[in-house]
Amino acid sequence: VKGLDGGSSASGGGRSAAGGMPRIKMVLLGDSGVGKSCLVLRFVRGQFDPSSKVTVGAAFMSHPVALPDSSTVKFEIWDTAGQERYASLAPLYYRGASAAAIVYDITSKESFAKAKHWVKELQKNASQEIVIVLVGNKSDLEQDRDVSAEEAKAYAEENGMEHVEASAKTAHNVSEIFESIAAHLPRMLNQGEP
Ligand code: GDP
Repeated sequence: VKGLDGGSSASGGGRSAAGGMPRIKMVLLGDSGVGKSCLVLRFVRGQFDPSSKVTVGAAFMSHPVALPDSSTVKFEIWDTAGQERYASLAPLYYRGASAAAIVYDITSKESFAKAKHWVKELQKNASQEIVIVLVGNKSDLEQDRDVSAEEAKAYAEENGMEHVEASAKTAHNVSEIFESIAAHLPRMLNQGEP
């Protein structure tokens, strides 16, 4: 596994020992092809470039995010690197994650059904309190929509998650995914502090 400089995040979110920027491990889950890699690239690099998928899959990408209290945390965003085809990802993938985005494609009912599977998988494997956002990607493909926003929002509410519809292609709502997570983080970052 590359990106082991993030090893200390295995203990969860929090201030780093050196007093630097707090780090948050965020994992991406969802069916293959829903656009997980494209969302990260859009957020971190401001680009839509499906061809650079391999570089993302090899490790995590880091990006600073401002919290509502004006402090900044570094998001370490882990992509599945194609492992989503297995029934369950390695426990290492979930370990220490304080945030997760479960992604489906609004034009695919099947991907939404899989998203529900990932919610259960995460609830089973996550070892600590975790902020989850359910992301309906490809909102630019409204004409091919197969999952209603209402249905997804209701499901998210029942399961204590935020819900965002976004498009990695047009950049619609992509930063909102991370902001909606950031809005819940100060409370968690302060856990364990005197
Ligand atoms: P992953 O397997 O979940 O990481 O999916 P990718 O990021 O590799 O994207 C899968 C395919 O969906 C690629 O062909 C992308 O071009 C396409 N895609 C990703 N995001 C969007 C989006 O927001 N809108 C549209 N129209 N296509 C997208």
